[in-house]
Amino acid sequence: SAVTSISAQVTSFLSAPKCLIDGKPHAALSGKTYSVYNPADGSVLAEVPACGAEDVDLAVKAARRAFEGPWSQMLPAQRQGILLKIADLIEAHGEELAQLETLNQGKSIMLSRLIEVQSSAEYFRYMAGWATKIEGSTLDVSIPIPPGMRYQAYTRKEAVGVVAAITPWNFPLNMAVWKIAPALAAGCTVVLKPAEETPLTSIRLAEICLEAGVPEGVVNVVTGFGEETGAPLVAHPQVAKITFTGSTETGKLIGVQAMKDMKRVTLELGGKAPMIMFDDMDLDLLGLAAGIGSFFNTGQTCCAGVRIYAQKGIYEKALEVIANVTRSLAIGSGLDPRNQINPVVSARHQAHVKACIARGIEDGAKPVIGATAPSQGFFVAPELFTDVRQDMALMQDEVFGPVITMTPFDDADAAIAMANDTRYGLGASIWTTDINKMMRYVPKIEAGTVWVNSHNIPDQNMPFGGMKQSGIGREHGRGALDNYLETKSVCVAY
Ligand code: NAD
Repeated sequence: SAVTSISAQVTSFLSAPKCLIDGKPHAALSGKTYSVYNPADGSVLAEVPACGAEDVDLAVKAARRAFEGPWSQMLPAQRQGILLKIADLIEAHGEELAQLETLNQGKSIMLSRLIEVQSSAEYFRYMAGWATKIEGSTLDVSIPIPPGMRYQAYTRKEAVGVVAAITPWNFPLNMAVWKIAPALAAGCTVVLKPAEETPLTSIRLAEICLEAGVPEGVVNVVTGFGEETGAPLVAHPQVAKITFTGSTETGKLIGVQAMKDMKRVTLELGGKAPMIMFDDMDLDLLGLAAGIGSFFNTGQTCCAGVRIYAQKGIYEKALEVIANVTRSLAIGSGLDPRNQINPVVSARHQAHVKACIARGIEDGAKPVIGATAPSQGFFVAPELFTDVRQDMALMQDEVFGPVITMTPFDDADAAIAMANDTRYGLGASIWTTDINKMMRYVPKIEAGTVWVNSHNIPDQNMPFGGMKQSGIGREHGRGALDNYLETKSVCVAY
């Protein structure tokens, strides 16, 4: 339970982090750098390269050369072996990566170890398994001309080419892995642009890939801001595929830009997930619903269950329990594993979350907790609102912090209608012990993932993505590989 002390490797890495292009450390050609922060105290953690279009061009060209060269020529089993090695090295460097993530992102060291490190290693192992199982099909066809000629068709799955991966700051390492692992398994090469706030573990990941035997140029990292670094990457003519996780607003810009060149695109965007709690739910699960469903990662998860709809028979009880959980969460630095609410990622995001709370109060919603957070660092105390109307910003717009709402309902169909009354459709949950209710209502919920008696727990084998404005496409599972593959039909006459 002691506060984690920072290792010498981490301190030494922080002194001069560089991008990685074509297997070599790279400073921005302009010489520009920018500061990244430690959200727990607001101090500057490191200076990282602020890349521009010229750096992006070098990275994409390196990725294209590596795609045409060693990577696409390797046997699937060789690629698989390298992916397995990456997983081992992520574990071997686990404590260093976890510390780096907690220092830069702010999250609990427990979550850094569990999600950023362990689940990322497992993700590489899972995708390594698919590297040797890429397959097409043989097809009987009915082409009638010329008379007497017969045909047999088959499909080949071919790597799409250079992938631009653009990631958000909430799970920096894990989000990068969700993209890099299937892309590499499919035989693609990658240029990763991590969120400007949290680039450090992405740089280490690229170095680890190299150490694991990934050839130079296969995984490149360019650090910098959305418009200066992300936009030229999206627009680069040699990028074949864009995989993006981030806000719906940015996702739309990227989608439009991608379509101009008909680039393939996967978009994992925002959410405003409902948790629908029926009278017959197991009330012992309320603590888990709030702790993991709502406040996991200080509410900075795209699937966070932030709109709780509880049926009238249990509403008062649910409100009491969830308010008690919200009040009792220990707030403080992620380096102390006892803290359950950690700083949000940046001063800018802290101001956003606070503004959402203030707007809620102004619009007439009622804050139940009213706690204060430590003044040093980017902390926001968790808040629970009641009396929130469906049309309020608090109900419709993403806060992406430790802020939830609770609303009673009588009629189940009305609850489903309220749950669906949002532009988002990423995650949702229903809480019931009645299998008939589950079977009846799950199909009516507009969300890419519906949990039953649980919330907010993705798995590498379970397709993940959004309906409506929460995105296009799915990650995870076998289907994730298809995001990085083209289908070629081969038609053979005989
Ligand atoms: P963001 O959209 O501001 O930034 C995401 C990334 O896009 C960053 O790397 C940023 O630099 C880059 N970017 C910004 N403008 C760009 C441009 N014009 N061209 C190219 N790249 C650009 O999002 P954020 O604030 O970093 O992350 C929080 C958001 O991510 C939330 O909306 C959250 O719901 C979403 N999210 C979604 C999922 C999911 O799987 N659906 C997972 C995690 C987070």
